[in-house]
Amino acid sequence: MAGIYIHVPFCEKRCSYCSFYSTIHGKKERDAYVHSLIAEMQHRQTKDTIQTVYLGGGTPSQLDTEELEQCFEALHRIFRIAPDAEYTFEANPDDITLEKARHLVQLGINRVSLGVQSFNDTQLITINRRHTAQQARAAIDNVHEAGIKNLSIDLMFGLPQQSLEDWQWELEQAFSLDIQHLSAYALTYEEGTPLYYDRARGKVEECDEDTSLAMFRFLSDRAQIAGFEQYEIANFAKTGFRSRHNSNYWKGLSYLGFGPGAHSYDGHSIRRFNEHKLRAYNAASTLKAPFADVPHQIETLTTDERYDEMILTRLRTREGVNLEELDDKRKSYLLRTAQPFLERELLIITSDQRLQLTHAGIFVSDDIMSELMWP
Ligand code: SF4
Repeated sequence: MAGIYIHVPFCEKRCSYCSFYSTIHGKKERDAYVHSLIAEMQHRQTKDTIQTVYLGGGTPSQLDTEELEQCFEALHRIFRIAPDAEYTFEANPDDITLEKARHLVQLGINRVSLGVQSFNDTQLITINRRHTAQQARAAIDNVHEAGIKNLSIDLMFGLPQQSLEDWQWELEQAFSLDIQHLSAYALTYEEGTPLYYDRARGKVEECDEDTSLAMFRFLSDRAQIAGFEQYEIANFAKTGFRSRHNSNYWKGLSYLGFGPGAHSYDGHSIRRFNEHKLRAYNAASTLKAPFADVPHQIETLTTDERYDEMILTRLRTREGVNLEELDDKRKSYLLRTAQPFLERELLIITSDQRLQLTHAGIFVSDDIMSELMWP
C-alpha cells in the first residue's frame, strides 16, 4: 500500500472559488469526526507498509492539539508505517503559529503544504481567503523555526484583474523564500461558487485566456531559473523534494483514503468513494449496532477506463506514459492518435519507450489528452 490520505472536512470560512466539500464546524462536530475517522481506519486496516501519509482538506490545521494527537495515535496503532515515511500536512497560514508548527514536528510531520494562494492582500480579499500575506510569511518562518525542512506553498494565477506583471511579482515573492516545492493552479470559475456568480453579475473581471497562458509560460520558465523542476504540469520541486504521496498517485499506485469524501484505489481497478456529507459519515460510528463501515460506493474500472486514467494522470508527469505497460491494441491506438502531436514536437517518445509532453506540449496538454482518450 503506497499511501494513506486523510480528509479533514473543516474550514473556518469558505473561499469564494472553492467547490470542494467542507463545512464550518465546532468542537462537537470535530470530536464526532475524529471518532468516526478512527473507527473507519480500524475497520479498513491493512498489513501493508505505508510509505506516505497525507492530511488534506478542507483544512487539517483546524484540528486542535488533542484531536491531532488522537488521529496520530490511531494511525500508528493501526498501521505499519515505514520509518522514512513522508507525512504531509496541509495548512492555512493563519493557523500556523510557532506553537502549532512545533506540535506538528512532535507528531512526526515532515512536510507542510501551505495554502498561500497570493502575496497580495487585495487579491486575498477578492477570493475570500481568511489570511493576509503577512500571515503567510509568518507561517513560513514558523515552519522553518520548528525544524520542518520540506515546505510547499500553493499559489493561484489568473485571479480577477491580475496582470502578467502582478503574477511575475507574486513569483518573485515566492522564489525569494526558502521553499522546496510550489503548486500553482489557474483559477477556475466553478459553477455554484460565489466567484462564479460574481463574474456573472460583472462584479469581478476574469483574466483573459491569453494572459493566463502567458502567466503559465512565465511560471514554467521562472521556476526553472529558480532551480525548480516542473515534474508535473502544476507542480515544481527542488531536487529531492517532489511530493512522494502525489507522485505515487500519478503513478497509479494504491492508497487508502479516510474521511468524508475521501477516495481510495487498490492500484489495479477498484476505486472507493466515501460519502462526502459529514453528518452521514459520522452517523455510521454512532449507531448502536457494531460499526460496519462508513457509507461509500465502489467502482470497478474497465480496461478502457484504466487506459484513460493513465493518460490523464501519467501524461501530466515528467516521466509520462510507459508504452511497455500497454497491451498491443492500446499501444497502437495511442501511437496513432499521438502521431500529429509527435510531428508538431508537442509529444516525444524517449529511448526507454515513454511518451512525454515536451515543454511546448505542457501548454496545450488538455487538448492533447482529450485527443488521446479511448474512443
Ligand atoms: S480553505 Fe481550502 S477547502 Fe476550505 S474553502 Fe478554502 S479552498 Fe476550499
